[in-house]
Amino acid sequence: MARYLGSVCHLCRRCNDKLMLKGSRCMTPKCAIDRKRKAPSTRGRRRRLSERGVQLIEKQKARYSYGVFERQFRRFFAQAAKEPGVTGDNLKVILEKRLDNVVYRLGFGDSRAQSRQIVLHGHINVNGKKVSVASYMVKENDIIAVREASMKSEYFKALLEDIKSKTVPAWLTLDKAKLVGTVVTQPMLDDASIKFDGQSIVEYYSR
Ligand code: SF4
Repeated sequence: MARYLGSVCHLCRRCNDKLMLKGSRCMTPKCAIDRKRKAPSTRGRRRRLSERGVQLIEKQKARYSYGVFERQFRRFFAQAAKEPGVTGDNLKVILEKRLDNVVYRLGFGDSRAQSRQIVLHGHINVNGKKVSVASYMVKENDIIAVREASMKSEYFKALLEDIKSKTVPAWLTLDKAKLVGTVVTQPMLDDASIKFDGQSIVEYYSR
């Protein structure tokens, strides 16, 4: 299936939220959402969304943020609904456990899209074995590392310096000198960068 090749800023505009799809470039004054928020309104009042419209936007925010197609997203939702506990929270945990997201959270990539490329191009080992599947689900105690051969590339040599100022979420640890991360526990849900409301997604699929 083809990937979305349009402007990712357009996806943020659709959701009217800063989804950080371009990584650190989203923090520059060029961000379309920031510019829109600062600009004086010229189009009058924004149309009020229906309840269904709000639920759809929450679902799309999650999909766009993690770069997941609808069919795969529905599979994750079905899996979340089967697990014990709150379905919306389970969904967040499932999405966070994707290998491309973990690579992003460890700071190996500047955005989830770049992190997906890093995985797909075979730069990552999980527990000592190459894994090039972005949707691979990590487990507690998994060791996620940049492969030894990849450490010789200019990108990862530069990353050794850049990563010194980065922090990782509490459910991961990172050896910054070796670019080796460990999943110490389940992903935590109090992370402000998780941008969507899980309950709205549950309601969206419950109709
Ligand atoms: Fe574009 Fe990033 Fe701003 Fe979204 S947050 S509009 S991807 S620059």
